[in-house]
Amino acid sequence: MQENTENLYARPHRRFNLLTNEWVLVSPHRTQRPWQGQVEDKPKEKQPEYDPNCYLCPGNERAGGAVNPDYQDTFVFTNDYAALLPDTPEAEQNENDLLIAESERGLSRVICFSPRHDLTLAKMSTKEIRRVVDVWAAQYEEIGAIDYIKSVQIFENRGAMMGASNPHPHGQIWANESLPNETVKELNASRAYFEKHGRSLLSDYLKTELEKGERIVHQNKHFVTLVPFWAVYPFETLVISRRQTSAISDLTANERDGLADILRETTANYDLLFDTPFPYTMGFHQRPTDGEDYPELHLHAHFYPPLLRSATIRKFMVGYELLGSPQRDITPETAAEMLRELKEK
Ligand code: ZN
Repeated sequence: MQENTENLYARPHRRFNLLTNEWVLVSPHRTQRPWQGQVEDKPKEKQPEYDPNCYLCPGNERAGGAVNPDYQDTFVFTNDYAALLPDTPEAEQNENDLLIAESERGLSRVICFSPRHDLTLAKMSTKEIRRVVDVWAAQYEEIGAIDYIKSVQIFENRGAMMGASNPHPHGQIWANESLPNETVKELNASRAYFEKHGRSLLSDYLKTELEKGERIVHQNKHFVTLVPFWAVYPFETLVISRRQTSAISDLTANERDGLADILRETTANYDLLFDTPFPYTMGFHQRPTDGEDYPELHLHAHFYPPLLRSATIRKFMVGYELLGSPQRDITPETAAEMLRELKEK
């Protein structure tokens, strides 16, 4: 059903997140409120190409005593402070359905995207990012083949505001034997949609967004970046593969180039928005690695950037958002338009 949404979007309303079955409150009239709250430090503009004190730079010693090889493009190693450990013994607790816990096996790895300390995805070439895509795909397959691993979560925390402990361009993989919360929510929603309609939820959603156009930010032959209809963070985006596939390792060579290119475009454009290296958490959602087929799942990446209205003012998830539902001020349509206009400059 086609609705006239002009009045709806101009006033307080809520939108449904198809992937998580949760609602977000949108308050477009509130964008003019004065800000007297916390202001963050602007990140240091210039990093050196090599930092002798960086534990990720080639040839340097890490905290655990290991020495990094003199790597030329990418470098993968087991996190010296891994959140998950492969040799965790099995144990569980259930006291009267009240105190419930279970052991969790897994592993954590770090992926250096480049030997250059001063680069970011936004400053790397498509060819360089393509190598990172290949490493992600190979790691997904290698770790996913471990018999007890069901979930391989690939992500990047970029910028001190998102808790990244080191500016050297790198990402992480946390893999474990149970499915994490967000994966379970998206799996349930995608499965319900697939059973009802016989197609992947994101295939149909992407088709609708391409027809409407108002939330599209970037697109190439293989991938599309858009501000999702239900975005919580002001400049949150979703990168969706045009072809329905459920894992990064299934992508063809051309599709991997397409992914590398749209990641470069998306991150470079973010940096232009507030004239600052844009902080974010980015990560992929793909099928569990339990050997099952997941025709309902559709490969995508989420970008969650915390910045609200300038390089130094961030969004906080507090108050009503912690107790009730998340809330945003500017509409996703406005955010998409702002990002698109930068691109056209
Ligand atoms: Zn997702």
